Amino acid sequence: MTARTRRRSAIPEFHPGQILDWSSSAHWDYDGPGPCRYCGQPTRLLDSHRHHAHKTCAEAALAAQYAQAQADYQDGAL
Ligand SMILES: [Zn+2]
Repeated sequence: MTARTRRRSAIPEFHPGQILDWSSSAHWDYDGPGPCRYCGQPTRLLDSHRHHAHKTCAEAALAAQYAQAQADYQDGAL
């Protein structure tokens, strides 16, 4: 195994629907829905910063951020 192979294998793979665990009641707004920070549609779900967000929208944003970072840091350099 080369150093390059080891580095790449340490990067986790993102699987939509399995990235975040929002089963805790801390991710539910009991006061009512608010606009999702990503798509603007109403949701009662809250992200870790207590902003309204659909879980699927948050996971799509994380996956996009991950893909962009992976593209930007090809071979460990910009
Ligand atoms: Zn959304």
